[in-house]
Amino acid sequence: MTTAQPLDVQPTPLALLLLGREADPKSERGVECPGDLPSPSDPDLVERARAAKEKLGDKVFVLGHHYQRDEVIQFADVTGDSFKLARDAAARPEAEYIVFCGVHFMAESADILTTDDQKVVLPDLAAGCSMADMATAEQVAECWDVLTEAGIAEQVVPVSYMNSSADIKAFTGKHGGTICTSSNAKRALDWAFEQGEKVLFLPDQHLGRNTAVREMGMTLEDCVLYNPHKPNGGLTVEELRAAKMILWRGHCSVHGRFSLDSVNDVRERIPGVNVLVHPECKHEVVAAADYVGSTEYIIKTLEAAPAGSKWAIGTELNLVRRVANAHPDKEIVFLDKTVCFCSTMNRIDLPHLVWALESLAEGNLVNRIQVDRETESFAKLALERMLALP
Ligand code: SF4
Repeated sequence: MTTAQPLDVQPTPLALLLLGREADPKSERGVECPGDLPSPSDPDLVERARAAKEKLGDKVFVLGHHYQRDEVIQFADVTGDSFKLARDAAARPEAEYIVFCGVHFMAESADILTTDDQKVVLPDLAAGCSMADMATAEQVAECWDVLTEAGIAEQVVPVSYMNSSADIKAFTGKHGGTICTSSNAKRALDWAFEQGEKVLFLPDQHLGRNTAVREMGMTLEDCVLYNPHKPNGGLTVEELRAAKMILWRGHCSVHGRFSLDSVNDVRERIPGVNVLVHPECKHEVVAAADYVGSTEYIIKTLEAAPAGSKWAIGTELNLVRRVANAHPDKEIVFLDKTVCFCSTMNRIDLPHLVWALESLAEGNLVNRIQVDRETESFAKLALERMLALP
């Protein structure tokens, strides 16, 4: 029998920053917009956005993530999840400005996948993502040191969720790994286990665990949780060596709110309801649901559902409300009793969009998101591995 061997990699402390108050250029955590924002009560905001967009013509392409507010989505040339939107932007090389109505890591991905001549603009720099912020480059480098000291780094293939910073994508590319989305996580993991014996899954523990256990036949015991705030991730060498999936301790603050009680409650309130949740939800929620899938899967499932069917949806509220309004013949409710918007997605509002579009129309490039060349090349490598997945 082996005894627990101590490792001595200490975690880097992470200072707390208030959204919109301070900047941390090394993370997803944004800063306040520098501009002179129009008042939210300005009755001409819609007209101003329309006029600025018209003036820019084909020079601008506005992307709207599914979780954006209605007031913003109405100006999107395309809507979708983060990866679809980045690809849509790349398919429009004539658009000099890509205005990304979404969060910071999405704008970074769009910058990585578009040409050098295209400039990606995030209307509010404070639109970060709490999940992406949960894995910083320093923390992940420390984790790799821990894996190296434990003698397993060579067996480990990193797989990073699209919802991660460009730095983390670059780390993944540098270490032979791939990116995944919530639609192709199983294919990415299948590929990774052909390359190595273990996977380091970043930064969403729930997507990693749910895919491994629900779709790949692993057990919960095959997964360990690496906590970047504890020395050596809070794990022993034996635990690391025994694990197949090393899950980063990150989560989505929106999807993490749904609980087993939410599922039981809705089943009691609405007999015959189908529970449909996103795989960023906790494992017990996913295990109790009837259907599990990405945002696109949720939209398609509801489109195809028969009239009169009943659905409780576990994902971001802007999306649930829009799909419910689009299908009045079906009963579609939000899974939780309390409201659950993504607060950072909601940072992009009409005043910020108007400000960004009017600035661009006047020739002022504002709030550009630009990934440095080295980071971009390794991050692109990881994204290209994803595109090549069987
Ligand atoms: S919904 Fe969750 S993962 Fe998506 S941007 Fe918001 S915090 Fe990040």
